[in-house]
Amino acid sequence: MRFGYREDQLLVRDTVRDFVRTRIVPNADAWNEKGEFPLDLLPELAALGLTGLAVPQEYGGAELDMLTSALVMEELGAGDGSIALTVAAHNSLCIGHLLAAANEDQKDRWLPPLARGEYLGCWALTEPASGSDAVSVQSRLRREGDDYVLTGTKQFITNGGVAGFAVVLIGAGDRRLTAFGVPRASPGFRPGRREEKMGLHASDTAQLILEECRVPERDRIGRDGAAFEDVKRVLDRGRIGIGALAIGLGRASVEIATAYAKERRQFGRPIAEFEMIQWKLARARTELDAARLLVHRAASLADARVPFTDAASKAKLYASEAATRAADSSLQVLGGYGYLRDFPIERHLRDVRLMEIGEGTSEVQRIVIAREMLRAD
Ligand SMILES: Cc1cc2nc3c(=O)[nH]c(=O)nc-3n(C[C@H](O)[C@H](O)[C@H](O)COP(=O)(O)OP(=O)(O)OC[C@H]3O[C@@H](n4cnc5c(N)ncnc54)[C@H](O)[C@@H]3O)c2cc1C
Repeated sequence: MRFGYREDQLLVRDTVRDFVRTRIVPNADAWNEKGEFPLDLLPELAALGLTGLAVPQEYGGAELDMLTSALVMEELGAGDGSIALTVAAHNSLCIGHLLAAANEDQKDRWLPPLARGEYLGCWALTEPASGSDAVSVQSRLRREGDDYVLTGTKQFITNGGVAGFAVVLIGAGDRRLTAFGVPRASPGFRPGRREEKMGLHASDTAQLILEECRVPERDRIGRDGAAFEDVKRVLDRGRIGIGALAIGLGRASVEIATAYAKERRQFGRPIAEFEMIQWKLARARTELDAARLLVHRAASLADARVPFTDAASKAKLYASEAATRAADSSLQVLGGYGYLRDFPIERHLRDVRLMEIGEGTSEVQRIVIAREMLRAD
């Protein structure tokens, strides 16, 4: 096993790290305070290739491999969870579904504007009564001539209120799903309620409402009723990105706590000299390093085109939980100051908690891992 990165991967990582330091970190508090995704950032993300991470260059994308994308997601996460989640939903979920299942005509029409960052994309699977059991959706489709007519409500959709294009998963009966590409302006399609969340305040989360929304057959993605197979492939890749994003949030928290521990004095010496403080920092750092190895292993398997479902679930499960522990113990190192909004750790802690829920809860990851084990043994 080789531990190391190519020069081009490190160049992308360092470029994004620099952008995060100069453009995201100084503004993240204001964006989160405002409670909206800063749409004026989109052209800047696009200029760096962050709106078309895995999109082939022929469609205007950066055509990055999965490992490089994981390096990018960690850097974005270290800056702000909201910006990182926005980029993740646009790339891993919306574009990820198109790369996994769209035909050439659909890729020609939909990928270039998404990769250029003309608008954000979103991916709508969850419904009010259907979360972990994703095929239990209540949305419905019916055929009318060459069109489909879609009805239903999608819940918790990242970028839902601001996206120009959605990949929407609709119930096709018998616990089957069909996917459609739906431009924002489509009649019968509109954002619904915007959700107020614990964290990730600069990431848009909204319902999507489909009321007799008419979609031509050419906008159906993949085969009728067979989209759940594509959903699983999309989520396998998405989970690697969420794991990397979580590591970024944990890492940023530990970096702040480490610097603080060296400065803050109690009982006549820096608190960094107390073993209980050292133990917290050492445990967090070790767990994040272990998480990164799991995430990068899963990404490398994906890049090698060998099965990586199990590796992606382990990476997402461990990274999200380790990052939450890291942010929590980092906050503790700052004592009362950690609880104030003067330092971003309280924001990172609120943001990172979602990573144990979105794209499959920790419980669902354990189900996937156990299923793979029991199948193999
Ligand atoms: C901020 C945010 C952004 C999101 N973005 C998107 C998005 O862009 N697109 C999208 O489609 N969805 C999105 N989601 C939805 C997210 O994927 C779901 O919230 C998640 O899959 C869990 O579904 P649920 O909330 O309905 O919980 P439920 O499925 O109702 O689960 C409730 C609890 O029961 C547990 N549970 C469920 N089944 C089992 C079982 N078999 N065994 C043991 N425990 C179980 C769960 O782990 C959880 O703890 C987002 C959610 C949030 C909060």
